[in-house]
Amino acid sequence: MKSRKLLMIPGPIEFEPDVLQAMAVPTASHVAPNFIEVFGNSLDMMREVWNAPNGQPFVVAGSGTLAMDMAAANLIEKGDAALVVSSGYFGERFKDILETYGADTTILTAPIGEVVSLTEIEAAFKTKKYKVVTFTHVDTSTGVMVAPEPLCKLAKKYNVLTILDGVCSVAGQEILQDAWGVDVVLTGSQKAIGVPPGLALLVASQKAIEVWKNRKTPVQNYYASWNNWLPIMTAYEERRPSYFGTPPVNLILALEKSLQLICSEGMVARVHRHERLASAFRAAIRSLNLDILPNTEEIAASTLTAVYYPKGIDGAVLRANMTQDDVIVAGGLLSEIKGDYFRVGHMGSVSANDLLCVLGALERSLSALNYSFESGVSLKVFQDRLG
Ligand code: PMP
Repeated sequence: MKSRKLLMIPGPIEFEPDVLQAMAVPTASHVAPNFIEVFGNSLDMMREVWNAPNGQPFVVAGSGTLAMDMAAANLIEKGDAALVVSSGYFGERFKDILETYGADTTILTAPIGEVVSLTEIEAAFKTKKYKVVTFTHVDTSTGVMVAPEPLCKLAKKYNVLTILDGVCSVAGQEILQDAWGVDVVLTGSQKAIGVPPGLALLVASQKAIEVWKNRKTPVQNYYASWNNWLPIMTAYEERRPSYFGTPPVNLILALEKSLQLICSEGMVARVHRHERLASAFRAAIRSLNLDILPNTEEIAASTLTAVYYPKGIDGAVLRANMTQDDVIVAGGLLSEIKGDYFRVGHMGSVSANDLLCVLGALERSLSALNYSFESGVSLKVFQDRLG
């Protein structure tokens, strides 16, 4: 029997066959006219997905962490004050990156399952002149979503640059970069963008570019420096050949295809699909009397759900049973509660069928572990919610 596993972790995700096929071709030269066109098209479509007609896109070989590194390296000078708004594991990572470039950082950490309040953020802005504030739109360790618009409005009032870590949100959650005035929105390819791991993607506002241009000290990173990459992005946009570091040609072919699929679905419809599936999935999980990590529906992400194991159930066995049933979900990531919960990714090309598979495998696994519930209830609640 062919074993068809369903990968339902919060990245990498299941990729569209058309995207995988787009990259399964002989590698072209990075200066071939066809490839220049593909790269240029991808940059154009990023503006559409980010809702950033005035933004400057960058695509560089690397993971999401490189996109975080690029934002910090280009915008931070030694001694700059940076505020990190953290709702899980990835806030800590941003703090480490910012400090690598000599930032004087302050971190506001939300209690597990909650977000940092705007009052707390405003209090921080009042006590110190910050140059940047970073926040994780969806923290992949908790499934907590931070509303970007009010935070960015507040940052604007205090003239602070905003950096949105959208690794687990871009192309899955609503993002209106220009309208909200976000200075950097960054992601990696392997999540809702729907391309195998290996691309760091970032869109910078014109204000961010100005701040970088007016630096008093050189960028303290060679590979991530916009000095090296901005001329390359400009050349591809103008459909001219250029070279700094060899781009991952086949991944860019996949990126163009995935962005085409995203744009033809349309961001409004895509965000709605994610919200609808995610809220039905959370209702299904609750029908099994399982607890979800984010404390309220309002701050629950549409791209993944983090679920506590029921008391007395061995989480590793629960997940191993599901893997035996060909459904792969992720364990916990936040160190304080790592062994207490699991995570299900539902982003990109995810469908209702995929989530029905997850619920079926979860019910079978819970049953095998003698957890008491009404068999089939989560599948029924999920279907009823979808209507
Ligand atoms: N930020 C968030 C919110 C993430 O989910 C991840 C990856 N899980 C990262 C940053 C880092 O991305 P990568 O693993 O691609 O370096």
